[in-house]
Amino acid sequence: MDEQMMREALELAREAAAEGEVPVGCVITLAGRIVGRGRNRRELGKSALAHAELEAIAEACKTLGGWRLWQCTLYVTLEPCPMCAGAIINARIPRVVYGARDAKAGSCGSIVDLFSLPYNHKPQVEQGLLETECSAVLSQFFQDLRERRRQKSSPNPETQSAARLDAGEIQC
Ligand SMILES: [Zn+2]
Repeated sequence: MDEQMMREALELAREAAAEGEVPVGCVITLAGRIVGRGRNRRELGKSALAHAELEAIAEACKTLGGWRLWQCTLYVTLEPCPMCAGAIINARIPRVVYGARDAKAGSCGSIVDLFSLPYNHKPQVEQGLLETECSAVLSQFFQDLRERRRQKSSPNPETQSAARLDAGEIQC
């Protein structure tokens, strides 16, 4: 069941990649049924808030008609950032399963473990489900992006270093 749901999240991550977004996908389930789906849409949505988890949480709240997702499981391909970990606490989600670790923004163990702090809700976390696939979809995306930028960039070394900086900047 967990693996099947993570595959659904991976599918959403691939959809994001196809639209030029950093590939992160998320599904929320209740009793084995998907009640919310989300994928990263920061570029298309022109919003710093358009993370996969927030989209999935918003959809799940709408589907279930309330803000307390207290019997749900959230599956996400990449370790949640502090904003999304905060939203998970606020939505009272009891169980979080994520694939790849995020050394740059991960807030469920990598940089900080927000869920171990004395907030009023402590989700249980499982890390590493389909980690290889979840990491591969991200590294493939950045590899393709670097390749496209290399092809586009001029021989001017300043432009090339700017392109490299951009590529690093959008990784989260
Ligand atoms: Zn996030």
